[in-house]
Amino acid sequence: MELIDIGANLAHDSFDADRDAVLHRAREAGVTQIVITGSSEDSTRRAIELSRAHPEMLSATAGVHPHHAADLTEATMRTLRTLAREPEVRAVGECGLDYFRDFSPRDLQRRAFGWQLELAMELDKPVFLHQRDAHDDFIAILREHGVRHGVAHCFTAGEKERDAYLELGLHIGITGWINDERRGLHLRDVVKGIPPDRLMIETDAPYLLPRDIKPVPKSRRNEPMYLPYVVRAIAAARGESPEAVAAASTASARKFFGQ
Ligand SMILES: [Zn+2]
Repeated sequence: MELIDIGANLAHDSFDADRDAVLHRAREAGVTQIVITGSSEDSTRRAIELSRAHPEMLSATAGVHPHHAADLTEATMRTLRTLAREPEVRAVGECGLDYFRDFSPRDLQRRAFGWQLELAMELDKPVFLHQRDAHDDFIAILREHGVRHGVAHCFTAGEKERDAYLELGLHIGITGWINDERRGLHLRDVVKGIPPDRLMIETDAPYLLPRDIKPVPKSRRNEPMYLPYVVRAIAAARGESPEAVAAASTASARKFFGQ
């Protein structure tokens, strides 16, 4: 199996002590490429630096997460525009709306989201999207900007949201949320309705450690080497082989990110 982790927060400081070992373990597990999520100005810089150090394996996104939307001033936006132009950057984002946590005021979330969608359109790069409890505003803003080339990362919603995203032309990213026997059960149905060429896979490391890993890693930190657990959970839900899910998601990711 050859896998592409389309969303790992490898710039996170929990990886500072052993990042090279993490990459090595990922390769051993068949994860040949990782797209590092940029979710702030700082993490975007780090993601680009890491991609330069490991160009055969790593690439980056450049964006500001809705949690940090209040930090996205016009000046930061100019910096982000410069960073997003770098060839290592394959998508704009993580951007979107999060009304579940509401860490930034909603009007500022909508403004930051709109700016980043404009940037993606200007640079002709796809968008890496985050949405939680904000579906109606989210889809309205995407429509308003005419966005079609994007991925709804860490999709955890239901059939209504899935169908709306698919109709718009978006891809859908599935994480280890689907491995969660408490809150991920609905996803096992939802994932059946995603066409293979729209489905991509991600760990969202260091978050969302799949709950079916045995033994449970002591650190509780998720990392790209656990991506095969996500593949197996998706395969079981869809009634396909893990190899088929791996091949389809890798082909989708290559095409999506232009790799
Ligand atoms: Zn996210």
